[in-house]
Amino acid sequence: MEIVKLSHYPFLTQTVQYVADMGTPVDNILTLRSFDITRYRARSRVLQAVHGEIQHDDTVNFTVELLSYPVARILVSCLDDAFLTRRYSLAEAKYAYHMMKQENNEVLQEIGEDLHIVASVTESGLFDLHFTDYIRGAVGLRSIQWKLINRILHSGYVSITKEEYARLLQEAVRARIIGVLPLNVPDEFCQALKNYLLEIKSTVDVSRTEFDEAGFGNVEPEHFPPCIVHLLSNAQGGINLAHSARFALTSFLLNIGMSVDQIVSLFNVSPDFNEEKTRYQVEHISGSTGTTYKPPSCTTLITYGNCYGKDKLCESIRHPLTYYKRKKTGPAK
Ligand code: SF4
Repeated sequence: MEIVKLSHYPFLTQTVQYVADMGTPVDNILTLRSFDITRYRARSRVLQAVHGEIQHDDTVNFTVELLSYPVARILVSCLDDAFLTRRYSLAEAKYAYHMMKQENNEVLQEIGEDLHIVASVTESGLFDLHFTDYIRGAVGLRSIQWKLINRILHSGYVSITKEEYARLLQEAVRARIIGVLPLNVPDEFCQALKNYLLEIKSTVDVSRTEFDEAGFGNVEPEHFPPCIVHLLSNAQGGINLAHSARFALTSFLLNIGMSVDQIVSLFNVSPDFNEEKTRYQVEHISGSTGTTYKPPSCTTLITYGNCYGKDKLCESIRHPLTYYKRKKTGPAK
């Protein structure tokens, strides 16, 4: 791959080797004035990730962009916060996806080889993957379109579009990044970055509690049953929910009075987020087709493995909506 592209894909083996060959000591990058811009770009990378999307910065040069990635990983590792780690990994992967979609086939294949999801390009421009590579790439993607059963297999190979291949690679990038975080970082590194760490920590704390304070209207999240709290915090932390979990969460939130818009924005950080599709699904559950769906009962939630953190009140109810109503109004006299 051309050197100039390496800063777009800092997680690749070739890029890591290139940075190692530069021989710049990490403590220089973390302390010298000459690396101020690099540290600042790393800080922006992490803060933007907390808000959901890393923006390309035209004002920084190749070296700054390249070195800002290891510094960003150090920042994330110093804070060692699962919520931040998930959001950061997802945002870096989405950033890479944005770049990958614009690449030619050869570059995309090169990235795929490094991520062990190898593809060949057919005459019609599709990407052919061995089904084992396909499964490995699609394992974190819950949407029904990614199930192998919905793909045509020919001699053990699956054909997908270039955009779908880039999407599989995005998931592999996310898995690679999150798989090694947090790094084992010496205390003096964190000490050198302490001002940035304070800023990032307070941004993370605000972002984490947004789910408690913003967007719920008259809804009272402190009265949610433990299963819904668990599903919601996973969705907000960027974890992909299984279909049954997503349905349980969405139907619960609709039934207690949240709007379609409010719910769509809650899902805005999940790896599979696609506004149009999410809106369609939420609207469907809300009854736009004439059928209003009730959330599943506790028995169904238990069957699908979506009952988490049962508490004392759970012992006397059979439905998460009953839990919410009881908590809001107190026990029946
Ligand atoms: S018992 Fe019901 S309400 Fe309680 S956590 Fe399990 S599924 Fe949710």
